[in-house]
Amino acid sequence: MVLDDLGSSLRGTLDKLRGKSRISEEDVDEIVKEIQRSLLQADVDVSLVMELSDSIEERALEEEPPGGTSARDHVLRIVYEELVDLVGESTEIPLENQTILLAGLQGSGKTTTAAKMAWWFSKKGLRPAVIQTDTFRPGAYDQAKQMTERAEVAFYGDPDEDDPVKIARDGLEATEDADVHIVDTAGRHALEDDLINEIEDIESAVEPDRSLLVLDAAIGQGAKDQAREFDDSIGIDGVAITKLDGTAKGGGALTAVDETGSTIAFLGSGETVQDIERFEPDSFISRLLG
Ligand code: GDP
Repeated sequence: MVLDDLGSSLRGTLDKLRGKSRISEEDVDEIVKEIQRSLLQADVDVSLVMELSDSIEERALEEEPPGGTSARDHVLRIVYEELVDLVGESTEIPLENQTILLAGLQGSGKTTTAAKMAWWFSKKGLRPAVIQTDTFRPGAYDQAKQMTERAEVAFYGDPDEDDPVKIARDGLEATEDADVHIVDTAGRHALEDDLINEIEDIESAVEPDRSLLVLDAAIGQGAKDQAREFDDSIGIDGVAITKLDGTAKGGGALTAVDETGSTIAFLGSGETVQDIERFEPDSFISRLLG
């Protein structure tokens, strides 16, 4: 179980329960406090942390350990189940024909994630194409072109066209041989009407099978407004967290997951196309608590 891999102070606290068959309120209190500390440090929203703490406390004190289970293992199981419930399962990404739209603010890592995802799909045996509709950020076209060349996947962009919707339409046509279309969009420095109107128009034009919100791991509380705005405008099916190679643990993304009723799809941990993996609850939980 993932909790074998826990942060050392939490493991120490749990280990104090070894040999005990009953668990006291103080024991549970101490464990819950350790978990709260780690999760808050990892940028998980306070109200989510409180909900989780309440559930752990209630279950640890009320549920009888199944016969033969030690108090330690019983609490460990409850903590694990509640954490899995908090972070959710991985967003379903079928390996089949599809169009994926990426949304997010400027600098969140959309272009990088588009190329990484294309690389990931190509390693799964599909033929992806990246369509770059970001006409707002200077350099977005060149960046996407270079990264997709490195990933050895198809690319469409038009540096002379300033209508992103036209680029999206032309891109789908120009890359019709591809089976997975990843449509990168422009961000802005902040949530602006411009951004929302543009992404709504692109969404209508490409009719994506799924839309992913790209969030920097360091996002913290800002995740809530972004998630709500993008979810209201285009519907968010999953989250891609970037820059997990930094010090941030990405707990803020859970706010977005909660706000949109979605799940986490991909994790990015570097600037090259290979630095991507599918979200997997166990290792993410270890990271949050570590
Ligand atoms: P966009 O404006 O949303 O398209 O963001 P970009 O894809 O251009 O990324 C913004 C910056 O973050 C670039 O310098 C990227 O190289 C960097 N970046 C993106 N993802 C990651 C990551 O997972 N790790 C690190 N270290 N840098 C990243």
